[in-house]
Amino acid sequence: MKILVLNCGSSSLKYQFIDMDTEKVIAKGLCERIGIDGSQLTHKVPGKEDFEEITPMPTHQTAVELVMKALTDKEHGVISDVSEISAVGHRVLHGGNKYSDPVIVNDDVKKVIRECFDLGPLHNPANLMGIEACEKAMPGTPNVAVFDTGFGMAMEPKAYMYAIPYEYYEKYHIRRYGFHGTSHKFVSNETIKFGNLPEGHRKVIVCHLGNGASISASIDGKCVDTSMGLTPLEGLIMGTRSGDVDPAVVQFIADHENISVDDVLTILNKKSGILGLSGISSDFRDVLQADAEGNERAKLANAAFRYRVVKYIGAYVAAMNGVDAITFTAGFGENNVDSRVMICDALSYLGIKIDKEANKERGKNMCISTPDSKVKVFVIPTNEELSIARDTLSLIK
Ligand code: AMP
Repeated sequence: MKILVLNCGSSSLKYQFIDMDTEKVIAKGLCERIGIDGSQLTHKVPGKEDFEEITPMPTHQTAVELVMKALTDKEHGVISDVSEISAVGHRVLHGGNKYSDPVIVNDDVKKVIRECFDLGPLHNPANLMGIEACEKAMPGTPNVAVFDTGFGMAMEPKAYMYAIPYEYYEKYHIRRYGFHGTSHKFVSNETIKFGNLPEGHRKVIVCHLGNGASISASIDGKCVDTSMGLTPLEGLIMGTRSGDVDPAVVQFIADHENISVDDVLTILNKKSGILGLSGISSDFRDVLQADAEGNERAKLANAAFRYRVVKYIGAYVAAMNGVDAITFTAGFGENNVDSRVMICDALSYLGIKIDKEANKERGKNMCISTPDSKVKVFVIPTNEELSIARDTLSLIK
């Protein structure tokens, strides 16, 4: 069976086409600048030259049609007819209070995705457009929604409730949801499998450290706590997001800069994090480079980032009354050898010992702790698309 995985943003559409017998990607690509001048499709097939097409894409519907055309094209296609697509798995940001597990899309699912527009204003409308475009382009092919908030829905109320008047939870479902759920689910399950963690020893902390960053604590693959909240702004310091701040900061900046609350939230989402602290870049590589060259604010940004990670890990060890494995994933987590050592060195009180040679490798599942380390430490590359494809397959089988 072949599954198409779609990840629609407000002006982009990423896709992967996966053969589920081998779990190999047979084609993948990106539609950029949907609804903006200069729209472009980039289609990649392993072993073939990339295909690029600059053509107007006024809507996600046009983008989906172009993807279908690219997949079935005589030269750069990989199937002869769209009927070879068994199902489409969609990454959907927010499933609100109603959906946690992946579901086959029907009218109720679309209604819930629409009701959550205010909780995911950039993503949920685009996710719904992607689903409706597939329904039109491939009538009869099942669409499956996999929610980024799904993993966090297993949290207990004591972990997900904000201590604000209860009526806001009842009226507006204000609570902590958590995001990056597909990644946390995939990586925590891979940690259990790859690490051969026996029953009763499956307390796992996953550090998803990328441009967006979050940490989860799970037992037996079930989320106990996760660092993002009502929106992806809460928690760790990220590329451009502040992570945790005292909410009073919002009013203070608004008053002193004479700007609106909306403006302050844009600053906290887009101009803060390591970009805001360093004043250099939102990309960790740039900030690490500047740090190495002696830039003080870059040094501060990196130190603050690592400190927050260490603090969350400590909190989650306490929340679970222990930890069996800590796993690093995503762009920074998978690639930054030195920061992993610094973070783990700060956790030496847990009896963690890193194997410095093993820690040098990249691009595959790795155990980077020594055999006598009290807590196992892994690096496991995340694969959200494969996780969505697996969920989709299990629903349509
Ligand atoms: P992601 O959002 O998972 O794609 O991760 C993107 C982030 O990972 C960017 O900030 C990159 O700078 C960072 N990243 C990728 N490779 C490295 C590396 N070797 N060292 C540090 N950061 C990296």
